[in-house]
Amino acid sequence: MHNYFLNEIKEECGVFGIYHHPQAAQLTYFGLHALQHRGQEGAGIAASDGKTIDCIKGTGLLSDVFHSEELKKLQGENSIGHVRYATAGGNELENVQPIVARAKIGCMAVAHNGQIVNADELQERLENHGNIFHGSSDSEIILHLIQREHGTMLEKIQKACQKMEGAFSFVILTERSLYAVRDKNGLRPLSVAALEDGYCVSSETCAFDSVGARFLRDVEPGEIIKFSDMGLETFHYTSDTRHRICAMEYIYFSRPDSDIEGLNVHTVRKASGKRLAQKDKGNTIADIVVGVPDSSVAAAMGYSEESGLPYEVGLIKNRYVGRTFIEPTQEQRDMGVKMKLSANASVVKGKRIILVDDSIVRGTTMKRIVALLKGAGAQEIHVRIASPEMAYPCFYGVDTSTKKELISARYTCEELCKYTRASSVRFLTIDDLIGVYGTDKLCFACFSGNYVTPLFHDINQKTEK
Ligand code: AMP
Ligand code: SF4
Repeated sequence: MHNYFLNEIKEECGVFGIYHHPQAAQLTYFGLHALQHRGQEGAGIAASDGKTIDCIKGTGLLSDVFHSEELKKLQGENSIGHVRYATAGGNELENVQPIVARAKIGCMAVAHNGQIVNADELQERLENHGNIFHGSSDSEIILHLIQREHGTMLEKIQKACQKMEGAFSFVILTERSLYAVRDKNGLRPLSVAALEDGYCVSSETCAFDSVGARFLRDVEPGEIIKFSDMGLETFHYTSDTRHRICAMEYIYFSRPDSDIEGLNVHTVRKASGKRLAQKDKGNTIADIVVGVPDSSVAAAMGYSEESGLPYEVGLIKNRYVGRTFIEPTQEQRDMGVKMKLSANASVVKGKRIILVDDSIVRGTTMKRIVALLKGAGAQEIHVRIASPEMAYPCFYGVDTSTKKELISARYTCEELCKYTRASSVRFLTIDDLIGVYGTDKLCFACFSGNYVTPLFHDINQKTEK
């Protein structure tokens, strides 16, 4: 779990919104706090008092950006917020969200999770029409598209969404209303909850508990929910919809206490671990099961339960090492490893270990963990990965890497085994995951290469915007 050794892998973002609550901004802060795992590079909150929208944002963690004095400045009953992990666009302040526009039609703020795959084309067209972009984030495109369209705010959003391809879950705050939108494939999660006599929207359901909201339902693919004086109203921007939630949400990104499309993340991870053990039945001899903290612990528990092998805490994560730790030289990088993760020698010494991790991206993490465990005296290490080989880049908001950096695009399982110096390496298949989830209605594109939208990019030439 988690790339302990390289900080460049990009994740997700988190969006949150409150409609009709006297402490909207404060609650948005608590909600974003529960979503902090989805992005640590920037955070922001925008609030509307019915007349205008104020926004405070900055780079870093939520706690770096907000102190109680700042929150008091954000008045009003409606609010949206964002935690950012840069996918498209850099890490500069102008790319931190929400992005606010003050136009003839009034004030508007948007917070976005996902990635628009035809962003370059749309931006070029908008610039040819005289639109000026302040940052390099594709989220700004949404605002420009909405502003250019004609009709009511809802019609403008509908028309703007029809022009965008890719992954987007976003919340839009206007002076009096709040909108929650999900792309027609439902690639990124977005859910709605009731909060006293108002509403709450969040990327993950775990944030509802932290504000005392009651889960109502997921936003449907292609749906636009409007929260206003009329209550909750539902619309669609297209009837051409499918359920294709990102499989990596279950595998790695989301918090274990979140439910996505009716499935609890922890339960799914544990079942994936059980599936790994079933595939090993009668084949692998080991003494203990060790999970790489945190997100692989559930799969390791599942493996242990199914196989009857004891689960042991063979790896310890130091929770207080910042993610922005700078590691310029090899020695410093090695030191970084030791600071972030330790092998529990008294547990692993002389043991044959089933080592469970959720995924392998570039292979760096696994190679170093195997070395760490061997250095602590482990005898054999059998690597078990609770997902399939990741051989294709993601264009939907997870910049996992370029294709050539993905180790499973270059190495067979046997070569990977040699490279990591493990005794064996095994993955789940897509069919295994479908069995675990009980549905094939997900995106598995980084494992299969079957992308769910047109791409507008050459997958071998994936570049950062
Ligand atoms: P790597 O060293 O590149 O193979 O990284 C693999 C590790 O990173 C695994 O332990 C995963 O849990 C974690 N991981 C997978 N996807 C991501 C991502 N998009 N961002 C950060 N870490 C990730
Ligand atoms: Fe998720 Fe992979 Fe699909 Fe990207 S390509 S949305 S990471 S399943």
